[in-house]
This record gives sequence, structure tokens and C-alpha cells, in this order.
Amino acid sequence: MQRLFLIALFSFGFLFNSFSQNIPSPDEFLGYPIGTQFSRHHQVVDYFKAVANALPENVKIEKYGETYERRPLHLAYISSKENISNLNTIRENNLKNAGLLNGEANNPDVAIVWLSYNVHGNEASSTEAAMLTLHKLLTKKQDWLKNTIVIIDPCVNPDGRDRYVNWYNETASQPYDIDQQASEHNEPWPGGRPNHYLFDLNRDWAWATQVESETRLKVYNKWMPHIHVDFHEQGINEPYYFAPAAEPFHEIISDFQRDFQTEIGKNHAKYFDKEGWLFFTRERFDLFYPSYGDTYPTYMGAIGMTYEQGGHGRAGLGILNDEGHVLTLVERLTHHTTTGLSTVEIASKNAARLNTEFAKFFDNSDLKYKSYVLGGNPDNIGSLTNLLQKHDIDFEKLSTNKVSGYNYKTGKQGSLNFDNAIVIHSNQPKGKMVKVLFEPNAKLTDSLTYDITAWSMPYAYGLDAIASTTKVPSSQTSESKSYRALTDAYGYVSDWNSMKDAKFLAELLKSNFRVRFTEKPFKSNGETFERGALIITKGDNKGMANMLSTLNSIAKKYDKSLATINSGFSQTTPDIGSPDIKLINKQKIAMLSGDGTSSLSYGALWHFFEQQLQYPVTSINTDNLSRTNLDKYNILIMPSGYYSRVLNEATMNALKDWVRSGGKVIAVDAALRSFANKEGFALKYKDNESDDAQENLTPYADRERAYTNNLITGAIFKSKVDTTHPMAFGYDKDYFTLKLGSSAYSILDRGYNVSYVEDVKVYSGFAGKNTLNMLEKTLVFGEERMGSGSFIYMVDNPLFRSFWENGKLFLVNSIFFVNNNAFEL
Ligand SMILES: [Zn+2]
Repeated sequence: MQRLFLIALFSFGFLFNSFSQNIPSPDEFLGYPIGTQFSRHHQVVDYFKAVANALPENVKIEKYGETYERRPLHLAYISSKENISNLNTIRENNLKNAGLLNGEANNPDVAIVWLSYNVHGNEASSTEAAMLTLHKLLTKKQDWLKNTIVIIDPCVNPDGRDRYVNWYNETASQPYDIDQQASEHNEPWPGGRPNHYLFDLNRDWAWATQVESETRLKVYNKWMPHIHVDFHEQGINEPYYFAPAAEPFHEIISDFQRDFQTEIGKNHAKYFDKEGWLFFTRERFDLFYPSYGDTYPTYMGAIGMTYEQGGHGRAGLGILNDEGHVLTLVERLTHHTTTGLSTVEIASKNAARLNTEFAKFFDNSDLKYKSYVLGGNPDNIGSLTNLLQKHDIDFEKLSTNKVSGYNYKTGKQGSLNFDNAIVIHSNQPKGKMVKVLFEPNAKLTDSLTYDITAWSMPYAYGLDAIASTTKVPSSQTSESKSYRALTDAYGYVSDWNSMKDAKFLAELLKSNFRVRFTEKPFKSNGETFERGALIITKGDNKGMANMLSTLNSIAKKYDKSLATINSGFSQTTPDIGSPDIKLINKQKIAMLSGDGTSSLSYGALWHFFEQQLQYPVTSINTDNLSRTNLDKYNILIMPSGYYSRVLNEATMNALKDWVRSGGKVIAVDAALRSFANKEGFALKYKDNESDDAQENLTPYADRERAYTNNLITGAIFKSKVDTTHPMAFGYDKDYFTLKLGSSAYSILDRGYNVSYVEDVKVYSGFAGKNTLNMLEKTLVFGEERMGSGSFIYMVDNPLFRSFWENGKLFLVNSIFFVNNNAFEL
């Protein structure tokens, strides 16, 4: 009996070994020792596929999406033969354990570890580490796989990574040059960090604006891992960083999540100590802003962590750092492989406990706010429910009218009457994420944080909202809208208050419709139409074949119900032929890109035009601005950036001449510095009157903290809106703006102050005490006329990370409505 058992054990072990001998090592497969070259994405994908082919019982590959540049996105599931053959059962059991799927969980004891590599493309060592980690797991660490499923995403951002790798490969010397000044250590604009649209994917988890995030979240939420690691790199002089993270921690993070981070960190330390490698913990990388690869998984119940190796886009294959050490790619990927394996080890050792604690996280019966009620603009509610669906967060329809609680727009307790509102209850499995996204003001334990401190969804979507400490009545949503086709009439009117309306207009213009908008409210056919309403008349579009059927199909596509008018004679003026109802011309838009522009700001605008508004824009490199014929365009957009190099006296004069003859410049955020306090411009800085003497007496050790008095780290303020100005059509008299910094500009004394901060109450987030007085009576959005044209100033960037949905229409209005002097090119 015993002998038989031994024979069985022996042959089983033999079999496993013979399998693992068939697995190609990265060195064999790639044809070079790993870390001596950067591997391109297709090679990495091929390697994972080769391993899965060699060992199909232990490795399964799933393609979950494609990037904007059509590179494939893959996950590899690595585990024991038994687990891999029961993958779906284990997945469903995990969801049942968390209450995300109906049914009793069956003794969950398999740990699920998700390792994400290379979200920042130029932090390129981690994808190399992914290959080595895969190989080591299968050849050396099979024991851990008995009770652990490892999910590897070898490259979250292949477009960015290949941008970096291709650039490096074509630039680097042979052998590589360790001199920091060598060109191989200095990436050109925009660098490999972001994705195709130059978004930082490690700021995009919660907003899921990018295709990489959106497709990944679908699988992530199907799996809901217990541990998630996001592999990164930092400056070349930094040692390794791993968990536990730094303060501030968001208050919903559980004691177990904190403690287990420490256990993991200590396990890593064991390996690092043995090799004498330097590392640090509990500093710099905090857990607060919800859109990171560590916080998002944390708020979804996992132990979410960031690991940071020194290296980054500067390091190449090897670089001499400031400490006299030659940091190599081999060293960088070895460290990442070590922490990846150590993570799997500790998960395996604690598989049962991870499951028990995971289940506890999803009990949300004791959260302070029980329901969040949101009403107002139905299009914005529609955009918000789209976002909720990306996270599998449940919402219902409000089944009462009056609700009391915290009123977001007043910042006080009160009550509101709603007619068409949605309710999000916090007592649902994803209730903690609901709290994080919807609570009015997240509790901040430390003002020294890495990112913005405010994002509360009701403000971002411009909705009326109440947070209630009692559960409000609601019912299941029922969506059964049917589009009512338009019939022959004098004209058709669309309301104007959302991005949906903006997309509708963009498509009409692209389809050669002649569309008008009203600068004044009017009444016709018994209905009142507000400023900005679009008017499409039969007379204007006489020349168009199939006008009505085309209009019907575009309206249907955007789910727009248009009103019908039967006469150009309005019940209240203006009439349709009035000069107050203006023709919208197809605007030809140019936008600056390249050196000097902020790649994030440019990328957000690029994405906005191509993927959201879907309206053409021509990008012009700043290097070519001086020889660009601006007369081909109506509008020039200047993303946030520093333009002192390109806007010399000659180009500035040419720009002013172009504006005087009818051009429009739209300047965003730091681009305003090009005009502030300059001769001929009304735009002026508002000076900071902080007490320098007091600051100079602050002790050395307290300086960093004292400096936060001068900072705004993403905070929400209320601004007044001139709703009669075309830039504000579709808006209410109050607009909540996300301030990203403390730069402030005075009210324009010559121009239109479309939106400005009046009282300086902080509705959400952190603003240092020295910043508040300075913000009083400062510009948010404004227009300055020059000759026949305009400069449009956007102090706060409504496209920041593309999640501030309610700010986007200000940009669209600036393009199509502001200073509409109706000239065609
Ligand atoms: Zn990073």
C-alpha cells in the first residue's frame, strides 16, 4: 500500500517535471537572455501562447480586448490542472462568496491573484518580468498553484510600451551607453508612459474612458481577485517600493486589508534582505484617489498594491545613476519577478483566510449614507448609469418624490423634490465603491497626497443630489423607449444641455445639415425652447435629398426626441428668421500638439474630438506653428502647456491678427499663461498674498507639510454662471468646477466672465488655507474679444482625465456658439 503510494507519487512528480521541461524558457524562446533586449509586444504574446501550448492543462490564454492601435490584450490563467479544468466554477464560487452572484458558496479556498504589468508603457521592465514569472511559476513553484489561480496581464498598455520599446531600439547605442545624457535615456514628447490617446491608464480605472480600461474591467469584475498588483517604475535613483502603502488611506479600507499589506511586505523583505537589496515601504504611495490600479481593486475588496522599481523611461538597458550604480534591465526585472513570486507564495499560504476576509468586505450594512438620489438632466443621468454598469453597480428608480438628507448643491442638510431620479443604495455588494464615488467629501487623513482629493460623482455629472442616511424607496428600472418618427413640418427643435445633444449636432453638421441655434428663449407650437436649442428647418435644408429620413435616422441613433414647429412665426419672439437665431457653421478646428503642450491635456482633447464628439480636428505640431496658414481654420485650441518657445513676438502678432480677422483661440489651463499680464490682453493673474515671512520660519522638517497650505489638490468649488452667454447655454446658474491647482486669474475687466468663483467654500477635497482668499472673484471661464474674433479662457480644464462630464459642453459651446460671426472659409 505504502509502496504503491510512493510509486504513484514518484510517477506523478516525474510527469509534472517532464511537462515543465517542455516549457520554453524566455531565453530560449526569445533568442536572447531575458533583460538584454526589450521584447516587443507581439513577442511577449507569442511567448505566453507558446507556454500555453506546451502546458495547456496548466495555462489558459484569453484575449480580452484590443488597443486603439489594434494590439491584442491578453490574460493568462495559471494554476493546477484541477483548477484550470474548473476555472468557471471557481470564478462563480468566488462571486457567490462575495454576494455578487446568487447561491451559496461552496467552501471557497482557492486564492485568486491578479498581476498587472506595464500599465505605464515606458516602465518597461515589468513586461519582461511577466515572462520570467510565468516560467518560474510553472517550473519551480507548482506547489503554490494547487490552491492559487494566478491571472497575469503581461501588458496593460501595449501601445505605450511598444512606443517606448521601438523608440529605444532605434535610438540606443551598441553596447548601450550608461551616460544619463545619452539620447537613449531621454525620451521625446510624448514618451511611452500613456496609451494611444495619451491617457494615464493608472488614473483611469474608475472612469474607464479608455478602451483598455473598459475591456479589462469587464473581466476584472467577472473575477474579483483577492490580490491585485500593479507593477511600476520610478526614478533611477530610487530603491524598490512595496506595500504597506503610505497614508492617507481611504477610511473604507478594512483592518484586514491594512494588516495583510504588511504581511505581504514582510514576505518580500525576507527575499530582499537575503540579497541585500534596498527597499522602502509606507512612504509616498497612498491609497485614496479611486482610479488607480491599487485603490480600485482595494475598494472592490482586494489587497490592491503598487510595486515600484527604480528605472522608468530613463533607464534603458543600463544607466549609471547618481549613486554610482549601473542599474540594468536585468536587475530591474529580477526585483519585479521576486515580488511577483513572493505575492503568489503568501496568497497560497493564506488562501482560506483571504476567502473568509474577502466575503466580510462585501457586508455593507453599516455605511452612514444608505441611499444616494440623483435627478436632473436625463442625458447626464444616462451617462452616469453607463458608468455604473461598467462597474456592475446596481441602481434603481426613485419611487417617491421628496427626499431629505445632505443636499450636494447647497452643501447643507435639506430636502429636494425629484421627478425622474435614480437611487443607488449603499447596502449592495459594491457598496463601498458606491460610497467612494458618491459621498460628498471623502475623509482625508493626511493632506500630503499623490493626487486629486475630490471626484464626487453628483458634481462631476452636474446633478441634483441628496445623500440620505435612511434607505429611500425605489423600484426596478424599466427601460422601454420607442422612438417616435418625425413627420413633415416647417422645422424641428432639439433641446441643448448635454454631450448627447452635442454629438447629435456634430453628426448633423457632418451630414451637411444646416442647423441654427437660438440666443434667446422662444415659444412655438405651445412649447418653450431655451437658449442653445437647435433648429433644423425644411427651408434651410431644401437642397438635401431624403432630408426627413436622414434626420429621423440621426435622431434615432442619439435617442433624441425633437419638437415640431409649424411656422416661422413664433408665439413669443424671436421668430425663426430673427438675427437672434443664428446659423451654425461647420467649424474648421486646429489644435496644437507636440513639444510644449501637456501630452495629457492634448490627449484628452484628441480623445474628446475623435471618440466622444466625433468631430474632425487637425493637429498642428508646435514646431510648425510659425509656418502654418491659420486662415484655413476658424478655431485654434491650445491645450494646457508652456508656449513661450513657440509664441515669440512674430507668432504672437500673427496669432492676434488672425483673431482680429475673426479667428477664435481656445486656451486651456496653463496655456493661459501665454496671454496673462501680456500687452493687449485683459487676462490678469491674481496675486497670492501669502505670508512669506511666516513660511520662511518654518523648520526644515515641516516645510513639505507647510507648503500644502498653498496647494489645491483637486477640490470642488461652486461657480456662478452667466447663463445668457453662448458659452454657458445648457447650464444652470451654478456650476461645480474641479480646481486642479491654485493658479488664479482676476475677473476680466474687458470681456465676458462666463463663470467665476464667488464664495470660496470648498464643497469637496483639499484646498490649503492660503489659497482660499485668493480664489474669491476669480475667473473659471471667460471670453475676451479682439477685433472680430475671440480668446476663450478655460482656467479649469473640464476635460481633465475626461471624467468631469458636466464641464464638456462649455467646450462645445465655445466651438459652435461663442462669437458666431457666421463666416464660412
Ligand atoms: Zn508607473
